[in-house]
Amino acid sequence: MIALRTLLFLYLLILFDGCTGTTNNEDSDATKRPFNFVILFADDLGYGDLGVYGHPTIRTPRLDKMAGEGQKWTNFYVGASVCTPSRAALLTGRLPVRNGMTSRINRVLFPDSDNGLPAEEITLAEQLKKAGYATACVGKWHLGSKEQYLPTNNGFDYYYGIPYSNDMDNVADMKAIGGYMKFWSSEAHRSINSFNVPLMRNTEVIERPANQHTITKRYTDESIKFMAGHKSSPFFVYLAYNLPHVPLFASETFEDTSPRGLYGDVVEEIDYNVGRVLDTLTAMGLAENTIVVFTSDNGPWLIMNQEGGSAGLLRNGKGSTWEGGMREPCIFWSPGNIKPGLVTGIGSTMDLYTTFSTLAGVPIPNDRVVDGVDLSATLFKGDPSPRNEMFYYRGDWLYAVRVGDYKAHYITQEAYEPEFTRHDPPELYNISVDPSEKFDIAADHPEIIEQINEVVRKHNEKLIKGLDMLKDRGNQKLN
Ligand code: MG
Repeated sequence: MIALRTLLFLYLLILFDGCTGTTNNEDSDATKRPFNFVILFADDLGYGDLGVYGHPTIRTPRLDKMAGEGQKWTNFYVGASVCTPSRAALLTGRLPVRNGMTSRINRVLFPDSDNGLPAEEITLAEQLKKAGYATACVGKWHLGSKEQYLPTNNGFDYYYGIPYSNDMDNVADMKAIGGYMKFWSSEAHRSINSFNVPLMRNTEVIERPANQHTITKRYTDESIKFMAGHKSSPFFVYLAYNLPHVPLFASETFEDTSPRGLYGDVVEEIDYNVGRVLDTLTAMGLAENTIVVFTSDNGPWLIMNQEGGSAGLLRNGKGSTWEGGMREPCIFWSPGNIKPGLVTGIGSTMDLYTTFSTLAGVPIPNDRVVDGVDLSATLFKGDPSPRNEMFYYRGDWLYAVRVGDYKAHYITQEAYEPEFTRHDPPELYNISVDPSEKFDIAADHPEIIEQINEVVRKHNEKLIKGLDMLKDRGNQKLN
């Protein structure tokens, strides 16, 4: 009788476990193991430079597939139209005007800049460290190259990369060549020796000039190594490729292979390496436990002609507050988590800060304005994006504001011309109907202008401008 009762008890136990065990395991896995985050960030890649965003000759099968399996966003913005402020926005979730990482004197940091990201800023890496994440920054940093400003002093356990743009530390003889713009059509710009950029590991320079032909592959190798070494704990990898910012360099495998020429070679090599990251996550069994996002820091550098990218049907490019300067391709991927589809709602790199912090269970700092919003309901359920506004700054001046479908330009300026024009009333475009910003409809819609003016008034009420961190440059070199 006792034996029979024991058998019955065991049977019920197995039955009970069989009914609920899977759910319990899933729950405990989900609480035990938060998402890993991988941000893949290209440099100066334009809105129109990927196959899946309509480029006719650049072949990007891995990014196209990533978009098919995940979400492709078509109204996704960066926080500024040039490198330094855009990266500051991504990593702090804040408009650069708030943290001082933007300037009307120098648009970006240079190797001899005195300052960098202020220590009181709380980076996404510092946020995720609070939840026990292992954090790596691989690639272009551009938020300060003096030691106290490097990634390892900004929440990253590990850094490997070129600390600023790949065209800096230019040592070519400009006088002999005939000037800076002539340099870009001379043979000298094809040589890695013209750019004496350092490759760093943590705070040490390990190679100079960095061999840029192999840099895309090596950045990916380092990222894969980091992920493999931290597969049992949550990790955050910020992999910021230095390319396709000019000068363009591809490896032997990709050189002279793309119908789009050297620019295409470089983008296709990035695409291949994005595939390596996704394949590694899949092979490690972490694909369903990781959110990967691919985007770019600003629009195409159009003044570089054939060596610059394309903003597709968007107006203008890098350096401008027209759509081509700040709207980027953006693809989210996490099999089984991200609801596949096309998202036409508004998003921003600043939202990655808020979304990833929230998913990791880390509160958003409440002692400062954070501009990011949580996109997770859009990512996981396909809900409408909670973001309805976007502010377009050049330096610390507000040039344009988007509210819903409408964008008002209060100031316009060509990307690299000194003259600017103020508009009162502002120029107004419906950028859902007219994504190329061709048809000014201000005269027909004073009520929409008034609505956007009100958004600007509210924005200005809370705005405290940070001290300009980009203006000071000394003579001191990195080493
Ligand atoms: Mg850039």
